[in-house]
Amino acid sequence: MENITASELAGFGVGTLLLCATIAAPKVDAFISASQRSSLGMCKKCGNLRMIACTKCKGAGLIKEGLLFGITLGDESEVRSTKCVNCLGKGQFSCPECSKSSA
Ligand SMILES: [Zn+2]
Ligand SMILES: [Zn+2]
Repeated sequence: MENITASELAGFGVGTLLLCATIAAPKVDAFISASQRSSLGMCKKCGNLRMIACTKCKGAGLIKEGLLFGITLGDESEVRSTKCVNCLGKGQFSCPECSKSSA
């Protein structure tokens, strides 16, 4: 086994920072857009899209197995995609707020 070089260590640090930013950004964005939507009279949940992306699969409809925090551990071929059980592979739900009012 070779020792981990400084550049590899730096790369890992940058990767971790990017990962944290990627996780934090949608939450901040969702918070800001929710307050904007309510002031505009739009649906707070979906912004009048009438659809909400599944939080479990992030709208993809598929869950990747073999991933830990989005990082592939080992061989890429070991990563399998399975249908999201939360949204049944649709990736989105109809907005409960909008379906209430538009019935
Ligand atoms: Zn889903
Ligand atoms: Zn809505």
